[in-house]
Amino acid sequence: MKSEVIFTGTELLLGQILNTNAQHLQQTLASMGIDLFFQVTVGDNKKRIKEAILQASSRSDLVIICGGLGPTEDDLTREALSEALGIPLAEHPDARIITERFFKSRGIEMSSNNLKQALAPQGAVILDNPLGTAPGLALDYNRKLYVLVPGPPNEFKNMIDHQVAPMLPKRMEAAAVIRSRVLKLCGIAESKVDEMAGQLFQSRNPTLAPTAKFSEIHLRITSKASGSKEAENMNDAMEQKVMGLLGSYVYGKDNETLQQVVGKMLGDMKITLAVAETFSGGYLSHLLTSFPRCADFFKLSAVADVDGLENLLGMKISARNNPVAELAEIIREKAKADIGIAISGISGGLFPADQAVTIATSLAGRTLCKEVLLLPGDGVELRQRAVQICLVLLWHTLKKRPDGRCRLADGGIQEPGARIQNGNSLL
Ligand code: AMP
Ligand code: MG
Repeated sequence: MKSEVIFTGTELLLGQILNTNAQHLQQTLASMGIDLFFQVTVGDNKKRIKEAILQASSRSDLVIICGGLGPTEDDLTREALSEALGIPLAEHPDARIITERFFKSRGIEMSSNNLKQALAPQGAVILDNPLGTAPGLALDYNRKLYVLVPGPPNEFKNMIDHQVAPMLPKRMEAAAVIRSRVLKLCGIAESKVDEMAGQLFQSRNPTLAPTAKFSEIHLRITSKASGSKEAENMNDAMEQKVMGLLGSYVYGKDNETLQQVVGKMLGDMKITLAVAETFSGGYLSHLLTSFPRCADFFKLSAVADVDGLENLLGMKISARNNPVAELAEIIREKAKADIGIAISGISGGLFPADQAVTIATSLAGRTLCKEVLLLPGDGVELRQRAVQICLVLLWHTLKKRPDGRCRLADGGIQEPGARIQNGNSLL
């Protein structure tokens, strides 16, 4: 069964509210194995809602329309459906009961325009709305099912879960489920992923789809099958193929975040950490201390401008040859931690100071330093990007070799005591 969803509301098009109903509906349809091929958002304009309904009828078997069922002038969905299908509206006794019940139960007088909500195209089945005044409806017409649901998120979710979803399996030719999982990669560019695993993107079932997010690439694997076990097995097989080609870049899955994975590695490996941040305002420390067991590995955080850090540490770091690397090492020593990290706007000279951030990781006497040119963005974005790069560096550094030594992202193994120069490629 092919489905299509139409969201109505000018406020959605103006960006005044986020379409939070979309995700719940998409997940519901996917979990039931119903294909959702199109999703349209249209303003509160009867002609355009009608056009959207006609377009949806031409290509989909199930059309779900959200919003515009209220009593006011801009609530036009019933009228648009009636006109699109040429079925007149008439008062429906079930709908009237639902609307009146809402006012009666609260002891409020109902205004006459609420009666508009009791209208329905002839032949429609009314869907109860225990949370509001707007009944929903389902209409079977020309072998297509049209479903109207109210916009307020609590009413919407309740109606989708308890009335719409239960009625759908009966209409589906064969029960099917869709199962998805996401593999998360870091330290690799999207173009490189395409180059290395391009042939897998041609697969139809399961499908493999990439999305780029900051310095991460997410690969979504989706299978459609007659049962969830079969779909999960198909996803397992595709995951293995991806791991075979790109496994060394995969840091986690689904809801895992890079900071969680790094935090868990630090905890599991019993490696402690100290951080000095002059650029990122404590954002790295914030991310790495957002776990219950962070006290096991997080030893010290110093957040200040360069002058402030110099005062705190009692030394002129900025005059040194490789100031950020020194900072990482000094903070590590101060905290008696295994790893010291410094993120600073001090430029080592590769890029202009206001566009560059230098990140240094000092691990048991070995200091890795990378100067990164940040893409333009506002202050918050720049911090987030710098911290994301830092987490990628840290993850690559922590990836343990069987011999217990840490591996650098460029493949080299650094012997204890070796110092890596500024600009060394770590990503
Ligand atoms: P409506 O049913 O169109 O009268 O919408 C009633 C209220 O529900 C609107 O004022 C919005 O605040 C909210 N709403 C409508 N559609 C959505 C949506 N897709 N996602 C989140 N909220 C919505
Ligand atoms: Mg509306």
